[in-house]
Amino acid sequence: MKAVAVNPEKREVGVIDHPAPEISLSTEIKFRTLEVGICGTDREICRFDYGNPPNGFNHLVLGHEGLGVVTEVGAEVHSVKPGDLVVPTVRRPCHHDHCIPCRNDRSDFCTTGHFVERGIKEYHGFMTEYMVEQERYVCVVPPALRDVAVLMEPLTVAEKALIQIWHIQKRLHWECPVAAGLAPGHCHKAVIVGAGPIGILGAMAFKVAGFDTYVYSRSKAPNPKSELVESFGVKYISSEQVSPEELAKRLGNIDVVYEAVGGAKIAFDVLPVLGLNGIFVFTGIPGFPLPHITIDGEFIMRNMVLKNQVVLGTVNAGRDAFDNAIHDLGIFMQRWPNAVRALITGRHRLESARELLLGKANGIKNVLAFS
Ligand SMILES: [Zn+2]
Ligand SMILES: [Zn+2]
Repeated sequence: MKAVAVNPEKREVGVIDHPAPEISLSTEIKFRTLEVGICGTDREICRFDYGNPPNGFNHLVLGHEGLGVVTEVGAEVHSVKPGDLVVPTVRRPCHHDHCIPCRNDRSDFCTTGHFVERGIKEYHGFMTEYMVEQERYVCVVPPALRDVAVLMEPLTVAEKALIQIWHIQKRLHWECPVAAGLAPGHCHKAVIVGAGPIGILGAMAFKVAGFDTYVYSRSKAPNPKSELVESFGVKYISSEQVSPEELAKRLGNIDVVYEAVGGAKIAFDVLPVLGLNGIFVFTGIPGFPLPHITIDGEFIMRNMVLKNQVVLGTVNAGRDAFDNAIHDLGIFMQRWPNAVRALITGRHRLESARELLLGKANGIKNVLAFS
């Protein structure tokens, strides 16, 4: 069957022939791939920055933002049946007994680094016609979300951030007064840095969680992304038009900064204006080469201590974040169906994969559609 793969040794990217998988364990399911999202991670793997083939292979099948329809289930599979739509999680645990997170189904906090990741690290991904996966690593998605479920995996970035924010901020009595009709974050302000797919999905998630949410991104407004963001009631502010200091003056205490831009410069420009009891979440991974930047370290350290601040890095997502993503995507579709659909720039055939992975990035989220 066809698959989109990289061969790091030969430095090749393209459609290859890859053996079709078969169910070998009674706890496995087989699904037919419907769609796979493309993101910066895939593009970096195609620049050979990272991305390792599994043992015994010269190539790595790409794709970690998958959506499929189940065609077959093993005898001991109970929660998934043929015809179900499924989104698989990405990371699989290491095999060390002493890795407590992995032994407790939290490979997103693996302590050994010997985890594998579908389409990224030593395990084939979803850009192929059929997949076999353990029941426990797939999430069943309601049919109503068929159109947009490919956005679930990128949404888990914000969902995992939100789970951790609530957990960490508990130390502060950070909860908002209960008010009818208002979601739990209604007394807090969140600034989303960046207006790519992670940023826009993050803005939707923070808004649904009740936060007074703003998107702060480089391009001057109006532009297609600012219009999209404002279409679901989040104010877009351009860093070319409003400095971080002006931003803080305008908004008042900034309780959360959610970095979704993948570069340190703008993030560290915003960090000094994080408010009292604030939490700053990094989600982006700067790509190589890593340029040096200058930061106001003394001022930031002073602030962090005097203002009880937290700076948090977060990667990958656990099952809880996937469950929350299914729930929130349903809410997004009730409230802003056009905005959610507009996140998907285009659906493309497999033959366009090379161009999408190696060419200039365009739009918000491009998707490979398998037929
Ligand atoms: Zn991705
Ligand atoms: Zn581990």
